[in-house]
Amino acid sequence: MRPEGKPIGLKSVDTFRIAIYNNSVNTDSKVRLLALVAQKPSILFVVESNGDDSYTDNLIKILKQAHVASMVVKQSELTAEVLKSAPVVMVPYQEKLSKESIALLLNYAKNGGFLIAAYTMPGELMEGMGFAKGNYVRAKKVGEDFVKMVFDPKLVEYFDGLLPEALPQQSHNIISANPLEANQITDSFLAQEANRPRVAAWWYDANGNKTEHAAILQSGYGLFLSHVLYASPTKEKADFLRSFCLLHDHSLRKELLLDQWRELFTVGMRLEDNPRTKRAEILPDVLARLGQKHWTPQQILPLLQGDIPVSGFHNFSRFLADLSQVKTDMIAKVCRSFGSKKVEGRLWWEHSGTGAYPGDWDRTCKELAEANFNGIVVNMLWGGSAHYKSDFLPPHRKYLEYGDQVAQASAACKKYGLELHIWKVNFNMLSSPKEFVDQMRKEGRTQVSLAGEEKDWLCPSHPENQKLEINVMLEVATKYPVAGIHFDYIRYDGGNYCFCDGCKERFGKFYFEKTGKKIVNLIEEYKKDDTIRELFAQWKADQVTAIVRGVRERVNRECPQVKISAAVFRDYPNCRDVVGQDWVKWVHAGYLDFICPMDYTTDLNVFDNWVRTQLELIGGKIPLYPGIGLYSSSSRQRPDQTAIQIDMTRQLGAQGYTIFSLNKTTLNEVKDLLKQGPNQNQATLPHNKK
Ligand SMILES: [Zn+2]
Repeated sequence: MRPEGKPIGLKSVDTFRIAIYNNSVNTDSKVRLLALVAQKPSILFVVESNGDDSYTDNLIKILKQAHVASMVVKQSELTAEVLKSAPVVMVPYQEKLSKESIALLLNYAKNGGFLIAAYTMPGELMEGMGFAKGNYVRAKKVGEDFVKMVFDPKLVEYFDGLLPEALPQQSHNIISANPLEANQITDSFLAQEANRPRVAAWWYDANGNKTEHAAILQSGYGLFLSHVLYASPTKEKADFLRSFCLLHDHSLRKELLLDQWRELFTVGMRLEDNPRTKRAEILPDVLARLGQKHWTPQQILPLLQGDIPVSGFHNFSRFLADLSQVKTDMIAKVCRSFGSKKVEGRLWWEHSGTGAYPGDWDRTCKELAEANFNGIVVNMLWGGSAHYKSDFLPPHRKYLEYGDQVAQASAACKKYGLELHIWKVNFNMLSSPKEFVDQMRKEGRTQVSLAGEEKDWLCPSHPENQKLEINVMLEVATKYPVAGIHFDYIRYDGGNYCFCDGCKERFGKFYFEKTGKKIVNLIEEYKKDDTIRELFAQWKADQVTAIVRGVRERVNRECPQVKISAAVFRDYPNCRDVVGQDWVKWVHAGYLDFICPMDYTTDLNVFDNWVRTQLELIGGKIPLYPGIGLYSSSSRQRPDQTAIQIDMTRQLGAQGYTIFSLNKTTLNEVKDLLKQGPNQNQATLPHNKK
């Protein structure tokens, strides 16, 4: 769960409302509410008084994935009592700290708290923590001077595998500061050996050389980071913050240990498994594996019961590291337990357009082929930009940086026998040059909501936009030797779109032809009139369908070997009625050659239900490659969970799968494991071309 909007605090809440979706499964279900538990934050973020801070939002997100609870307080609401509620306090980015805030933060650190301050910090705060105020240093070139913060090996050793060796981050500028010299320290606490200010990490450059600039300073009062902390790469950054939270938050140690322990018993969990019997089944294996690492049940039990002595950090961290290794081994065992298939679509979506290794499509394709994948769907087109030189759209910035991505990817795919499908984000003009977006708006071609909000999305009913979408998809299909073209965002932005002037006029005509009646004020009449709403939904779906049909007709004429596919919403017919995405109609009209609904979930019951329903709707007309959410906004899976969902697509009768989404991290996380199991043999794609 997460808070919505700006809650006024639990103490002011009288009632909770719990809303439950039925996930379009029309069967009676039971819901048991076991408890409502308030989480105690391990780390408190102090943000600007306007409360808008994307750095902090991203850090909170990655910490949540690492099971660390956080809380946010605005600088203007800072009090000693609020600070005392968290063992660690971080000031991720502050333009200006007030005198009162500085005093409160120093007081917090001097009374047993641990303070993490970053980037531009006032001299007073720096000196109070034991650091000299630093100087602003600009990188000569981003990606060359400051690319990695490398920790002191002694510190890494102290954390026993919990702290990463380095934090990759390309900073364009830093505050280069140093610890106070011994003779400058007047604070008796800081004068003690264990608390003495020192450098915890140094900046390294792109050649792997240590620079003269400290990246992170440490003292008994806390840390100073020389730049704002980016949230990526997420694992390293989360591990770093979590290490220091664990050092100072004893209840977090207990929670984390239990979390990790419980997670072991979910490894390899299938739809048909009963969690209780599964647990009893796995326990002997877990104990045997831990026994090999010299942990006896007599040692393990007190740790799990939370009996972790304050001085026992080493014991704790070693156990945590061993649990993690056991989990890794168990995941590998599950993945290896699956057999392979001879005919199957094994695809990935790749969102950046540059492959897993930007500038090196050869490596991406080589690794995919080695892991027996047979295709890739790459996002090379947006509503207003292209990763190649297009006659219709301006260049995407990645094209300017890395060159023609379609040409590079298609050459590499050909070399390694992979199908390349060019993914177009239709309508949506994110990642598109501002001038193009402005031009489209000026020409009245962008979507407007019921409430009058302007959106950077092309309006699907505008005849010029329909032509543009079709022209661009045909351009890439005919200029390059690609296996296919792939629709995405092939819909309206939401139920409240589109009410632009063009839509009012065009729908007005349609409505008049259907009913003989005229609409005077669409927005007002739409709100009251069910017939108008129904016809509007149907008309919207017709606009989107016209584009899919237009692409099909021209592909048949100009490049019949090219396959047409689409990423679609899983919840049909809702997506037809709300956003105009009538994919079932497209399937049965022969407009698509295969289809990839975005079935991202870690809940196997839900996944099973979605895939079953989709297979029924498609009725064997074209292959279904369900989208598996290895890493998406709504799901984050372990490799064993991905392997299990792949197996489910097979058991249910789908013809392949599409993993969301490919990048260096996800590819390396699963490629070897899938190759040892569900992808152990090469597979050919189903013959889905008429
Ligand atoms: Zn419109």
